[in-house]
Amino acid sequence: MKTLAIFLVFTAVMVAKPLMVSVSIVPQKSMVEKIGKDLVDINLLVSPGSSPHGYEPKPKQMTQMAHSTLYLAIGVEFESAWLAKFQDINPNMRVVYLDKGITKVPIAKHRHEEEEENKKEETGLDPHIWTSLENAKIIAKNIAHALIAADPNNSSAYEKNYQNYLQEIETTQKEIQEILLPHKNRAFAVFHPSWGYFAKEFHLEQVAIEIEGKSPKAKQLISLIKELQHDNIKTLFTQPEFSKKSALVIAKEIGGEVTTFSPLASNYLENLVNFAKAIDKGYSQ
Ligand SMILES: [Zn+2]
Repeated sequence: MKTLAIFLVFTAVMVAKPLMVSVSIVPQKSMVEKIGKDLVDINLLVSPGSSPHGYEPKPKQMTQMAHSTLYLAIGVEFESAWLAKFQDINPNMRVVYLDKGITKVPIAKHRHEEEEENKKEETGLDPHIWTSLENAKIIAKNIAHALIAADPNNSSAYEKNYQNYLQEIETTQKEIQEILLPHKNRAFAVFHPSWGYFAKEFHLEQVAIEIEGKSPKAKQLISLIKELQHDNIKTLFTQPEFSKKSALVIAKEIGGEVTTFSPLASNYLENLVNFAKAIDKGYSQ
């Protein structure tokens, strides 16, 4: 009888199901995989290639929510509207905010935006926190704490993976610093202002084509073109999640080119290095 009990406990441990973790966006999935490895199963909401802005969960994703032990929120808009509904489906699911401890800044406003508009519309805080490596360290720490709290039996594995990942983040940060050091205080142009925290961390300035979430109007386009010519910017970064249309119009005018780059790519750290390399390349054109 005792042998049977031991056998059953042993079997239970062997077939222990991975911790089911729901996350909002791809970079989170990338990070949770690094710290949770095969101890976690990830339910990703915003699929690759889609934008988290304006996202709504599919019915199937709502059902999957019932199996999650944890929801790791990152502060993207849809979470504030949907997290309460997810909790209704699964009241036992613990929600942990990965942006805890991160100081957010207002989303980049365009330099030439008209005064009146500035007064009328107050834009919110920039949600794209994961484009900074300094923020990534905080997010990774919050992920490790959440996984340990939800699955304390595997705390040493999570702790070890977290420490290794932290090293990787620091190496990446140094690598990007080296790539961008020669370009201190220069500007780079993007369609959607996803790279504000990246720009701040590496002493660059982000110039966004999109204004208040919309493509620029004719008048705004003209002033943008002048500005890019003045700053001698030849590369415009767009995202696969958004339309390239206005970037292509501007690129034609300035004799520049459009490069597509996503801050939501799955190879999270490598992607940030590649973005730094693309900026570097853009300046040498
Ligand atoms: Zn965005």
